[in-house]
Amino acid sequence: MVEKNKLIEGRTGPWEVVLGLEVHAQVASNAKLFSGAAVGFGAGPNEQVSLVDAAMPGMLPVINRHCVEQAVKTGLGLKAQINLKSHFDRKNYFYPDLPQGYQISQYKHPIVGEGEVIVEHDDGSTFMVRIERLHLEQDAAKLLHDQDPNSTYVDLNRAGTALMEIVSMPDMRCSEEAAAYVKKLRTILIYLGTCDGDMEKGNLRADVNVSVRKVGAELGTRCEIKNVNSYRYIQAAIEYEARRQIEILEDGGKIDQETRLYDPTKNETRSMRSKEEAHDYRYFPDPDLLPLDLDPAWVKAIEATLPELPDAKKARLQTQYGLTAYDAQVLITEQARADFFEAAAKGRDAKLTANWVTNDLAARLTAGGLDISDSPIKPDGVAELVQMIEEGVISSKIAKDVFERMWAGEGRAREVVEKQGLQQVSDTGALDAIIDKLIADNPGQAAQVKEKPQAIGWFVGQVMKETGGKANPGVINQMLKAKLG
Ligand code: MN
Repeated sequence: MVEKNKLIEGRTGPWEVVLGLEVHAQVASNAKLFSGAAVGFGAGPNEQVSLVDAAMPGMLPVINRHCVEQAVKTGLGLKAQINLKSHFDRKNYFYPDLPQGYQISQYKHPIVGEGEVIVEHDDGSTFMVRIERLHLEQDAAKLLHDQDPNSTYVDLNRAGTALMEIVSMPDMRCSEEAAAYVKKLRTILIYLGTCDGDMEKGNLRADVNVSVRKVGAELGTRCEIKNVNSYRYIQAAIEYEARRQIEILEDGGKIDQETRLYDPTKNETRSMRSKEEAHDYRYFPDPDLLPLDLDPAWVKAIEATLPELPDAKKARLQTQYGLTAYDAQVLITEQARADFFEAAAKGRDAKLTANWVTNDLAARLTAGGLDISDSPIKPDGVAELVQMIEEGVISSKIAKDVFERMWAGEGRAREVVEKQGLQQVSDTGALDAIIDKLIADNPGQAAQVKEKPQAIGWFVGQVMKETGGKANPGVINQMLKAKLG
């Protein structure tokens, strides 16, 4: 059953969108997949090119062990089958940014087989996307069309960089699900340390396969939208493409299987080339490379280095600290944020600590464009603030002011409270006179409390006003009840 809200209403009734993604993730590695040339952002054009990358005749590729290890690690993180035997194939095609005239990739025998990713919807519910495979392959070089009005330049720095192509099953049914899947996949890769996930630099990009069908019908013909590199574009490209296909079908036309490009400035997709079939590429095993033959003990050793992954961390934060699924989800989105929380929550009220980390601190960091590692308030600072709230020294309301002052560099929580005289007034002597005067001045309100106990709130508010918000609300309530009761 497809949920109604995921269907797109057309002239002839509702349509179901079927989405599968091929994500290209650049392997976090200092060197390329088959050469020792450096990989890095910011080098000058053609400064990171070996003779292998430039495809000089007679050069031989040599597999980079670290890249293989990263692929295995990723496979394990995706709970996938690790294929102990795999091999590399040549995928032949001509393109000016491909000096070899073929891409070394993996076709029939990828290094990683079927796996799965649990993905969260915005409302906290989850769905599963099955992984079909993960294979290793080379990236192409880059053409520069905007350097000169009459020529195109080529920068070979990216040629031969290791990519993991992660292919999902067509398990997504709306654009939000596709974006949520990429988000989750990216988080897992960053936790694993196998890809930096930098989408702006193109280190993680998605090819989106889109088709539409009437509910319950056979799968429709799909179009592939190439290289979309932001969540927003992924969603916009899918929305546009699905509607384009629906219009064609409702007009009695048929969808041509093709590769399309998304143009964010026009917010449309346009045809790039009709889709090649696998046989057009003339895949064959690369004769320059031996099959990959992994030692099971090596795979076991890699497994032992896996960090605690997002799903496990989320479950642990819920049980160990009694957090809600929502709070735990917000915390684990970033490893550093979860670490910050755990450091701050030691011996403190965990729920309260989580609130400060996910609300006030997160808002401040976002506004300042800062990573949590650059936060001027450290975990022990949040812990100190929370402790003062727990001890009743300051109210939660005053704590907001203290927090702002801490952020501005005025000192630690205790210092700020002492310097500014923000301690809560729990001293009944000081409050006594204020309350007595209020009751004497407002006999009408006082009489009301006898009939309507909730009316006591008005007095609490007045005492707060008189004391600049520093009175301890628990203490005021008790005193008022005693005097008006
Ligand atoms: Mn690919």
